[in-house]
Amino acid sequence: MGQEQENSCGPTGCGVGLTPEQRRILREHGTERPGSSPLNDEKREGLYACAGCGHVLFESAYKYDSGSGWPSFFAVRDGVLGTTEDMRFGMLRTEVHCGECKGHLGHLFPDGPPPTGLRYCINGLALEFRPKEP
Ligand SMILES: [Zn+2]
Repeated sequence: MGQEQENSCGPTGCGVGLTPEQRRILREHGTERPGSSPLNDEKREGLYACAGCGHVLFESAYKYDSGSGWPSFFAVRDGVLGTTEDMRFGMLRTEVHCGECKGHLGHLFPDGPPPTGLRYCINGLALEFRPKEP
């Protein structure tokens, strides 16, 4: 409602319909406030797509409650993410971004549950949940 929208991200159309806060995360490596995303409590079956370009990244079966305050996943669809090393806060973290539009999503930590032992800690605003059709 009343939020500025922009369509300036090139031929793929990324950025269409994004709020300024979403753009801050996806394009400027922002982080949303912990516990602020309604997706923390999302338990329905469905798919999680990149809010920047609509590319499907995670499935609801990969989601778990990490207690971190951000939507967390222990696995991701093959080949859909890129990673870079992030030293921005004086510690090495693995940053994850959409392999398609390169939008920043969150970080990857090695303290997740089995079977992968991975925790993809993702900003809810960087995701678009698509509930499974009934
Ligand atoms: Zn994307």
